[in-house]
Amino acid sequence: MTRGAFPPPALRFDSVGFSEIVRVRNRVLDLLALGEKVWRFEGGEPYMPTPPPIRDAMTRALQRGETRYAPSSGIPELRTAIVAKVARKNGIPADRDSPIVVNGGMHGLFASFATLVNPGDEVMLFSPYWTPIVDVITYHGGVPVLVSTAAARRDGLFRTLEQAVTDKTKVLYWNSPTNPTGDVFSRAEIEEMSRFVFERGLAVISDEAYEDLIYEGESHVSPASLPGMEERTISVFTFSKTYSMTGWRAGYVIVPERYRAAMRSVVLYSINGVSTPTQWAALEALSFPDDFLREAREGYRRRRDRLAAGLVSAGFQVEKPRAALYLFPKIPASLGSDSRKAAETLLDSVKVATVPGMVFGPEGEGHLRFSFSVAEEMIAGGVEALSTLSSKELQQAR
Ligand code: PLP
Repeated sequence: MTRGAFPPPALRFDSVGFSEIVRVRNRVLDLLALGEKVWRFEGGEPYMPTPPPIRDAMTRALQRGETRYAPSSGIPELRTAIVAKVARKNGIPADRDSPIVVNGGMHGLFASFATLVNPGDEVMLFSPYWTPIVDVITYHGGVPVLVSTAAARRDGLFRTLEQAVTDKTKVLYWNSPTNPTGDVFSRAEIEEMSRFVFERGLAVISDEAYEDLIYEGESHVSPASLPGMEERTISVFTFSKTYSMTGWRAGYVIVPERYRAAMRSVVLYSINGVSTPTQWAALEALSFPDDFLREAREGYRRRRDRLAAGLVSAGFQVEKPRAALYLFPKIPASLGSDSRKAAETLLDSVKVATVPGMVFGPEGEGHLRFSFSVAEEMIAGGVEALSTLSSKELQQAR
């Protein structure tokens, strides 16, 4: 029997990378398998377990036999609770058909880009940015156009966006609070952004994964709460960070009417709905009072401050962020400015795992990302390990 050649994977993958954060994690797992102690700051998960009432709600759903297909856009009870939540907490005008339940923030973002992006469309995003976004844009044939956050904050958002926009621009990806820097855009900046997208006729994908993890200052502002913005903004929310539900894979998108049919098709054909018992657990999460995170936020703030102080004493230049789970310090000159090399040096010589800033875009070069959402003993041990970096190792790193 003759055998033909094998067809290659689809061409769209030629320009799609595989998350370098996952690569770092795999290296860490290899070291752990060898019995090494690793001080792990490369992750991005809440430090607490999922609250027991949420777990109990899933158990009850299973006991009731809630194990069959649900409507592909979500069970009505959850969608109703989402409409109430976004109206009350985010100020987003939504009707009963606005929410679609998705498999976490990543899936909500994937579905949003699938809904909006044609091959050749330009998508603007601020840099440093959350790594997977560029790959999701290119997966759909879109062209990512990076806009420096530092430049936008220095020269004004409108002016900086205006310099990067072209006739091909269709979408602005917006992420506040931001991964990796923990920056939060102010209401005034959001108003400026919205003036820009109105003028240019653009759609916005607003990634609000960290809406509840702001530790001081002005609280979260959803772009879709600004007058008229709800018509051009797909707002993407996740249960992962607020409710420590990273492994459950649950989130929701609030979709303007004109994009709903497309979004429903993407969700139907990609997942045909989120697991039914998970949706009942998510409904329980939404019944928590708005301030249920107050205590957890204290824990995050304490960890942020301890790690920041430790990194400063190890020679890093740290700007303490107001939100999210990460510090994004400048690498000390003794470690050089190549973030990949610096991350390797730290992992090889003192077993401290971080993510090189470069993977968050060229504007992230010269930085490392450390998650402070880890056990306090991890912070103490990691800082201690950093202080043992010998000058010989530092010399080799250069
Ligand atoms: N958006 C940002 C900025 C994130 O950092 C993450 C996760 O790290 C997500 C979205 C997606 O989270 P998930 O897919 O766990 O809901």
